[in-house]
Amino acid sequence: MDKKTHYSYGRQFIHEEDIQAVADVLRSDWLTQGPLIPQFEKALCEKLGSQYASVVCNGTAALHLAALALGWKGGDVVLTTPITFVASANCVLYAGATPDFVDIDPASYTIDINLLEAKIKKIRTTGNKIKAVVGVDFAGHPCDWESLRYLANKYEFRLINDYCHALGAKYKGEISYAVKYADVAILSFHPVKHITTGEGGAILTNDASIDRKIKMLRNHGITKDEQLLEKNEGPWYYEMHFLGFNYRITDFQCALGLSQLQRLDQYIQKRRAIANFYNDVFVNYERFIIPGVSNIVEHAYHLYPLQIKFDEISITKKEFFERMRKRKILCQVHYIPVHLQPYYRQYFQYKQGDFPLAEQFYEREVSMPLYPSLEQEDLDYISKSILDSLSH
Ligand SMILES: *Cc1c(COP(=O)(O)O)cnc(C)c1O
Repeated sequence: MDKKTHYSYGRQFIHEEDIQAVADVLRSDWLTQGPLIPQFEKALCEKLGSQYASVVCNGTAALHLAALALGWKGGDVVLTTPITFVASANCVLYAGATPDFVDIDPASYTIDINLLEAKIKKIRTTGNKIKAVVGVDFAGHPCDWESLRYLANKYEFRLINDYCHALGAKYKGEISYAVKYADVAILSFHPVKHITTGEGGAILTNDASIDRKIKMLRNHGITKDEQLLEKNEGPWYYEMHFLGFNYRITDFQCALGLSQLQRLDQYIQKRRAIANFYNDVFVNYERFIIPGVSNIVEHAYHLYPLQIKFDEISITKKEFFERMRKRKILCQVHYIPVHLQPYYRQYFQYKQGDFPLAEQFYEREVSMPLYPSLEQEDLDYISKSILDSLSH
């Protein structure tokens, strides 16, 4: 649909060069398992200061493989935030471990460090051990990674950065923070994310043994690497060492990702400009809370999470969504707190009130349209529609 007739919270930006790059691969010998896989991985490593990268078929598969590579199993407890996509917690269940949650920090909407330490201490008194924390750089705002690393060393657990929102963000001036502080960082290339491959994902790490395991697990747990084989019966020979999956991505998808990555900086600049425009409009009204930004980060703005104090005004969130929809603006909410999903309530007995800051954030949050092809006239129309829809 044309962007002028319909606005969603996010969408891809496909350049002619992207189309050409995909077409070139379609005319080549390799549609999958060809040269674009390592090329895209190398480009991700260079851009993000990572030693290793493995591209896979989606971000959820990336989380699953990270969980397996870190050796999670039954009895292990892994903590994450309720304000995330269900996949951040589901990967814990895929590995047979137990997910649990820590409420959010009200300024950055990422996992609260003090509550996290309190929870770790409490869990340790029951004799259980924290295996890992999945930090989520929500909306593109990095977590407090220095504190997370400090706690990970102190209490001996691993760190995953669910970095799906934050490609291009900086923490203490560094774009390479994701794998500097976390053992593993996860990317998604879904069309709403900063760069896309249609469906796709990646696992970044500076740990050679984690990388080796992930590269086998994405391909059935199979290796042909001379160094790893128990024996070698000939050129056809391979060995399966782990129970892996087919989580591979195609070469034409990687061509799209590689081409998109060249314009990441431009996309980020545009996203920041749009967020600044929204900030300037909404900061003037008591009924809004604009997204907080710590002074040690540069936000990547995958989302623009505006909080609207529906509890203090006479219109409900549902009415607001309906009014916006009539104006062809399809907002979204990020996220329904994971612990309130029926599955999590049923199997883990979570209930309303367990994570009150996350729950209040959910009541107020609306993700406004934010993607590189939005022009000034679109932004004027969207912001006016928001203000009009909230008045009588
Ligand atoms: C998009 C996303 C994922 C999952 O990625 P897919 O590629 O859709 O599987 C996981 N975590 C977060 C925070 C995401 O935004």
